[in-house]
This record gives sequence, structure tokens and C-alpha cells, in this order.
Amino acid sequence: MDNTFICETQNPKEYFDCFMQGLIDRNPGEPEFHQAVAEVSKSIVPFLYENQKYVKGQVLERLSEPDRLLSFRVCWEDDKGNIRTNRGYRVQFNNSIGPYKGGLRFHPTVNQSVLKFLGFEQIFKNSLTGLPIGAGKGGANFDPKGKSDSEIMRFCQSFMTELYRHIGEDVDVPAGDIGVGGREISYMFGMYKRITNRFTGTLTGKGIEYGGSLIREEATGYGLIYFADNVLNHHNEGLQGKRCLVSGAGNVAQFAVEKLIEKGAKVLTLSDSEGFLLVREGITQDVLEEIKKLKSQGKRLKDLSGIGLEFHPGKTPWGVSADYAFPSATQNEIELEDAKVLVESGVKGVFEGANMPSTNEAIEYFLKENILFGPAKAANAGGVAISALEMSQNNIGLSWPREKVDGELQVIMKRIHSTCVKYGEKDGKTCYITGANIGGFVKVADAMLSFGVY
Ligand code: NDP
Repeated sequence: MDNTFICETQNPKEYFDCFMQGLIDRNPGEPEFHQAVAEVSKSIVPFLYENQKYVKGQVLERLSEPDRLLSFRVCWEDDKGNIRTNRGYRVQFNNSIGPYKGGLRFHPTVNQSVLKFLGFEQIFKNSLTGLPIGAGKGGANFDPKGKSDSEIMRFCQSFMTELYRHIGEDVDVPAGDIGVGGREISYMFGMYKRITNRFTGTLTGKGIEYGGSLIREEATGYGLIYFADNVLNHHNEGLQGKRCLVSGAGNVAQFAVEKLIEKGAKVLTLSDSEGFLLVREGITQDVLEEIKKLKSQGKRLKDLSGIGLEFHPGKTPWGVSADYAFPSATQNEIELEDAKVLVESGVKGVFEGANMPSTNEAIEYFLKENILFGPAKAANAGGVAISALEMSQNNIGLSWPREKVDGELQVIMKRIHSTCVKYGEKDGKTCYITGANIGGFVKVADAMLSFGVY
């Protein structure tokens, strides 16, 4: 059956159903990708019908097909001398407004569906930053947990011996994501530099000594809190003295906690895949520093000991009574049942640090219950925004001071908030999902229409 049909209808709801059916038929076995496209399309389709040039130009259909999808073998030798084989990917989704840009994820759950969902989300997120960056995502089904430093190095170097031919400072600029931090970026950048014999800003998240940007490490977590602060101020509320739940214990979670502490909030939890840490009196900067140290040594939250620190194995933090939640671990960590538990726990605002941490059913429930909801593509855009500023610094050969980059981050998160309000306000209420989706869509869609059909 031809599943590239045109959905000819004047009814937006029918168009959405028809479009989604075609997408599912064309991309079988990719549930995460279907979920991400459905979430965006639901709020965009009515806007398309008000602006028929996008329907006529088949922009949504074109936007949901990646420019290019690369998959490749990555062989490496473990410490026992065994030859191991993993699969690497790069999804170059859309470069209408700038070079492909998005992180690399090393995690056993990585597959084509997960990377397509992440790459698709990245289109809107990167556009929302207001900076000239297209969208991509990549990674491998490699599990860094329990691997030695030498094994990580060999894997990263092998990964780059294929990836290097597809990237470049004006082509595609990868960064980190789950399982890829400063150490991994350094190994990959070193190999890229060696193979190409060029020193360019082709990866971001680099070390400060060789082209990295100050604040990049903090940017996603800090940006999340700046965004939440903007949303709360817009609703005459604030973070001071508020009880907050954070999930995850990695890059995003750690710096979200740091900024929350600075804003006077009381952070009660962190988590990892083994359970959650509860600190009833609130996590202090000292405890956070301990956690950072522990994590940098590859240890687990359960290894942390001290007065007032309770580890709850096999559980999520959502049942702890609180005001706001910041899911910052991974996709679909808040299902409908978790959403109900959060609302029962008194939570009045959810701000997504991770990518797509809430299922579409959970989001529906939050909206029904009038929970303030900051979607990932707006709330966690600070990381990629500062990556773009790292690219700018590399291009002009300068390194900006911490205050300047942090100042830019605050301006960018404020601008993202204003864009969400501009496109998401209706009857005096702001829907941040609609605002982020349409706000991210317009610039990319208009650029695509200008280029004509190809
Ligand atoms: P890290 O690898 O630094 O940390 C991930 C954290 O999430 C770890 O504590 C990990 O626990 C936990 N986690 C991962 N998978 C699961 C799972 N299935 N169940 C429970 N916990 C889990 O990643 P980041 O902090 O960089 O990324 C977190 C999220 O934020 C991801 O969705 C990422 O895409 C998103 N993001 C990250 C950005 C960045 O700049 N880093 C930018 C924008 C979005 P464990 O160690 O036990 O696996």
C-alpha cells in the first residue's frame, strides 16, 4: 500500500489522524518516534489550518522525515581482549536554519526510534533558542556503566573513525547526552582532530583548555531553573522556600539542584535507575558536592551515606509531598499513574529537564488538573543554546567569561518563555506546549518553504 498519500480534508482532527496513520505505517516499530511526533502535531495541526501555506507545502510531512539517517558498526576491544561490536547512529534531521546540532547518547536502550524522537524534538528546541542551529541526534547502544577508562577511550575512538566523515563545523556539530560527558567528548574530539588534521569546533562540550565554553556543563540544569522561574513569575509565584522533587543524578539533575538551592528552594530528592534519595531537610550544597564526586567516580546514589540521607531502592520520587517537580533522568519516566501520584502529592508545576520524560497521557492529565507544565523543548533548551555559543566562540577564536555566558543563558531562557507566551496564550492562559511547538515550528517551516521543494 502507498503510505505516502496526501491527507485531503478540511477537518484538522481528520488531518491529524490521517497524518499520524501515515507516519506510523512508514515508521513501523518506532513507538518513541510516533509519540514525539503525535505530541507536536496535536498542537500544530490547528495552526497549520489557520495558515494554509504550511498544509499546501506539506511541511509537517517533510519535517517528520529525517534528511538522512546513518547507522554503522563500532568494533572495539575490551580489557580481556574480547572483540565487541556495537551499533552507532547519527540522525541528521533538519538543517534548514543551521548545521545539524544535537547530542550523542551512549546507553543500552539506544535504537533508531529513540534517536529519531530525540532528533525530531531537537528541531523545535533548537529553533526556539533563536540561534542558527539545525537538528540532529546520535549515539550507540553502548553501556558505559562498569567499563574501564581504557575501554571507554577505545570505544569513543572507534566510534569517531566512522562518524568523522559525516560531521564538521558547518555540517553537523554533535555534543553530549546520557552517558556522554566531558571525558567521552574529549576522546572523540581527540580522534576527530587526529584523523582530519584540523582543529575546529566540530564537537561541543569540549574541555575549557581546548575550545570549550564556560557554563556549558551547567547550562541545561541552570537553564531549566531560569525557565521555571520565568513561568512562575509570569504566574505571580516563585521558587523561594518551595519544596522540589528532582529525578536523575546526572548532568542535568546536578546543576538543576545547584540553581534551585541558590534560588532558595528546598530540594528533597534525586534518583538513578536503582531508586531515589530522599533528604527531608533539603539537599545542601555540601551534599550536592559529595554526590558530584561520587558520580564522577562511577558510584551510585545508594553508596552515599550520612545523617538525614534516605535511599529508597526500586522507587521513584513522585510520591513525596512537594510543590514542583523537575524530571531530569530519561524519557517516559512519568506515566499516567505517576502523574496522578504527583498531583496527589500536591505538585503544582512540572518542568521537564529530561527529553520527553512525561508520556502523552501524563501530559493530558497535568493539563486537565491545571498543573503548570514546562515542556522539555523549551525548559531544557539551555544546554544546546550554550553549545551554539561555544560554536560562536570557536568561530571567532575567543573565549567568553563566565558572567557573559551565564547572562546570555538567562536572556535566552527569558526569550524562549516570551515565545511560548506569544504563541501559546489563549483566553488569558498560556499553554506552554502549544507555545513551544508553534514557536519552534514557524521559523523552520518558513525557511523550508523558501527553499522550494526537494
Ligand atoms: P546523565 O547520563 O548525566 O544522567 C542521566 C541520569 O538519569 C542518571 O542519574 C541515570 O541513572 C538516570 N537514568 C537514565 N536512564 C534511566 C532510567 N531508565 N531509569 C531511571 N533513571 C535513569 O544524562 P544527562 O543528565 O545529560 O541527561 C538526562 C536527560 O536530560 C536526558 O533525557 C537527556 O536527553 C536530557 N538532556 C540533556 C542535556 C545535556 O546537556 N546533558 C541537554 C538537554 C536534554 P543511572 O546512572 O542509574 O543510569
